[in-house]
Amino acid sequence: IRFTDYKLSEDIMNALKSLGYEKPTEVQSKVIPLVLEKKDLVAKSQTGSGKTASYGIPICELVDWLENKPQALVLTPTRELAVQVTDDLTNIGRFKRIKATAIYGKQPIAIQKTELKQKNHVVVGTPGRVFDHIERGTLSLDKIRYLVIDEADEMLNMGFIEQVKAIINKLPKERVTLLFSATLPEAVKSLAQKYMKDPIDIEI
Ligand code: AMP
Repeated sequence: IRFTDYKLSEDIMNALKSLGYEKPTEVQSKVIPLVLEKKDLVAKSQTGSGKTASYGIPICELVDWLENKPQALVLTPTRELAVQVTDDLTNIGRFKRIKATAIYGKQPIAIQKTELKQKNHVVVGTPGRVFDHIERGTLSLDKIRYLVIDEADEMLNMGFIEQVKAIINKLPKERVTLLFSATLPEAVKSLAQKYMKDPIDIEI
């Protein structure tokens, strides 16, 4: 399997080349084609497997550059992961000029409000701060077509699951939902069952 099998745009292919990604990792070879077909999926996968690019590549491919409101929302348990994912998306979307922004706790809300007023294709954040912006009306959700729940088991461990559900309840129903988790405890499985459309299970 090669990246050329996915018929990605030149902008994305050039970014993969400049990142030195020669061929898809195992998780990428399973996830990329399904996201391009707009399927919901639950992927049991570890950090280090290339999981960020497995959703980052198809999301950067699918977002409409011209749309000014965010089209993808990525929820992460930690600030560190939010920043890492934002960097990865920025690199993958470099030639398409995809704008990704991280929002997380402990950074002044005012800075993030200014960021969120700019054009953003993807917003990446921790559940508490994302919910805060939703409540303040500073994060627009009506154009969100892709939701990624990254490290769902960590969200659970850190007590963020209820906040994740509250966020999902505010999102448009017409969307693709992707859930990544190293382990699949019952609470994560039931979240998938309740909020996803016939998700395909992927195990790496
Ligand atoms: P992740 O599992 O998303 O944390 O990714 C682990 C590391 O693998 C990161 O440093 C990525 O830049 C790198 N990586 C992701 N996809 C590929 C690929 N197809 N080829 C080579 N390296 C990759």
